[in-house]
Amino acid sequence: MENVVIIGSGPAGLTAGIYTSRAALNPLLIAGLQPGGQLTTTSIVENWPGTPEGVDGNKLMQDMRAQAEKYGTRIIHGTVMKLETMRGGFRIETDSTAIETKAVIVATGASAITLPLPNKDKLMGYGLSTCAVCDGFFYRNKDVAVVGGGDSAMEEAHYLAKLAANVTLIHRRDKFRASKAMQDKIFNNPKIKIIWNTEVIDTLSDNSGLTGIIMKNMNGESSQLRVDGLFMAIGHTPNTAFLRGIVDLDPQGYVLCKPASTATNIAGIFAAGDVEDNRFRQAITSAGRGCQAALETERFLEGHAH
Ligand code: FAD
Ligand code: NAP
Repeated sequence: MENVVIIGSGPAGLTAGIYTSRAALNPLLIAGLQPGGQLTTTSIVENWPGTPEGVDGNKLMQDMRAQAEKYGTRIIHGTVMKLETMRGGFRIETDSTAIETKAVIVATGASAITLPLPNKDKLMGYGLSTCAVCDGFFYRNKDVAVVGGGDSAMEEAHYLAKLAANVTLIHRRDKFRASKAMQDKIFNNPKIKIIWNTEVIDTLSDNSGLTGIIMKNMNGESSQLRVDGLFMAIGHTPNTAFLRGIVDLDPQGYVLCKPASTATNIAGIFAAGDVEDNRFRQAITSAGRGCQAALETERFLEGHAH
């Protein structure tokens, strides 16, 4: 039986790997369909501390992996399909094998929901984005639009207004669902223009990327807007399908951890990173939670012989 299985190879999972392997727990890490996690989909990460020149997202994740392996983390490929409790621990089924373990660290991240736009795959990173903190810097003094009416969209628009020349917030209804405090920030910001009752249905682009969007309002009328960037802030889905009915999740599917802890309601199952955090969603916060989960797992396993 394994001591600890870490599910996910993003910043949270690999940091948990570094800490648990240095603690001589001989961890097994299951990498999932996206080895290295979300940062492998970006170019330069500029807010990872200790890298004043910025660091390539792929390189950062390769280095994190190398560091976890250096101390003994065993990394296997595979996707977890099922997790169940058993006497003395847990049984994990991946798409190719079954593993028994005393403890589990869930670090499966969350996936941003995107609009089903034609050319979406081609334009992601070239005008289309789901993360203003990550990509906003590239749109300094440019025109951008944000889609959504929740707190995330308000936060994205507010953040972008500090950098971009103009921000247009596009919402499909005539009311935001965001908190009043966040809405007030938007209404009071002269740089942010709001378009109500409108959906973005298509993109305009040239060889360098996005040049505009095509919208349709509730009367069926279409219009175009010239923008350099379109930020989609229409929600995230945590990757927790295999945990349903096993650990407590919030109504959106995020793992519920105990206050100031990575412990879930099931002793021995810990969660770290975007899978349990629908607020900050940053590499550094995920890595920090991975560290915390590893230290809490170590304490938990002190009660088991290993
Ligand atoms: P993730 O990085 O999402 O990793 C999840 C891991 O779980 C993946 O390895 C996946 O394969 C695995 N997995 C999922 N389901 C399963 C399963 N069933 N079985 C096994 N494995 C599974 N943050 C910053 O701080 N700075 C930035 O500049 C920045 N830029 C970004 C740019 C983009 C384009 C995106 C999308 C995000 C960016 N972020 C940035 C956010 C940052 O990437 C995330 O906050 C961070 O990666 C979350 O780390 P995580 O380890 O919790 O999850
Ligand atoms: P959300 O609250 O679910 O809002 C998603 C928004 O996107 C909604 O306005 C929704 O429109 C819109 N939307 C969904 N699908 C769409 C589509 N296909 N086309 C156009 N618009 C679409 O998600 P969120 O804003 O990411 O927030 C998630 C949770 O995190 C919330 O609980 C939020 O309070 C919290 N959060 C908090 C903070 C903070 O406290 N500072 C910051 C960010 C997030 P409708 O309104 O019409 O449904």
